[in-house]
Amino acid sequence: TPTVGVLALQGDVREHLAVLESVGARAVTVRRPAELADVDGLVLPGGESTTIDKLLRIFELHELLQARIKEGLPVYGSCAGMILLADRILDGTADQQTVGGMDMVVRRNAFGRQVDSFETDLDFAGISDVGSGGPVRTAFIRAPWVEEAGPDVEVLARIPAVDTQGRSVAAAGRIVAARQGPLLATAFHPEITGDARVHGLFVSMVAGG
Ligand code: GLN
Repeated sequence: TPTVGVLALQGDVREHLAVLESVGARAVTVRRPAELADVDGLVLPGGESTTIDKLLRIFELHELLQARIKEGLPVYGSCAGMILLADRILDGTADQQTVGGMDMVVRRNAFGRQVDSFETDLDFAGISDVGSGGPVRTAFIRAPWVEEAGPDVEVLARIPAVDTQGRSVAAAGRIVAARQGPLLATAFHPEITGDARVHGLFVSMVAGG
């Protein structure tokens, strides 16, 4: 059973722990360097990327996480976690840093303000097209999007052209899920809509898939 950590400095930690357990991982919280050194994979939860960035440095996890990513640690970043995995960001605060690892530009708060949060169904390569499949139910909460993806970044999901009511969508075509080797990022929160398949994909990546 792979041990998957959830970075527990800020954000929706408990929801990720529960979904990871439901797909067969041993899920543990990570706050200290020794805990980060021990996990087989790590989830960076949603929350506030500026706060998580500061806390990563205060808790002396920033450089260790960068080193573990360079060694090939599988990491899944959701929402604020996607921002942290991006090599470059737009609309960050003046002193905001990322951990990096994925060759992409991510725009913070790209969909607008908190009131512009929404749920939608998405086609997700490797998930919605596998087995009985079907679209992934997702929640976007002050979410980022991927503005530019480098050649090694595999695009897994984009905002569809029309919503479930058939209305056209301003953000149509924006990249909202991507993978680069052992790094996976989604702009949305799959852990709060009861769809465990993104976590299932990540746990299979941790297990060596
Ligand atoms: N807007 C937040 C940020 O910039 C991300 C929101 C989220 O994680 N739900 O970090």
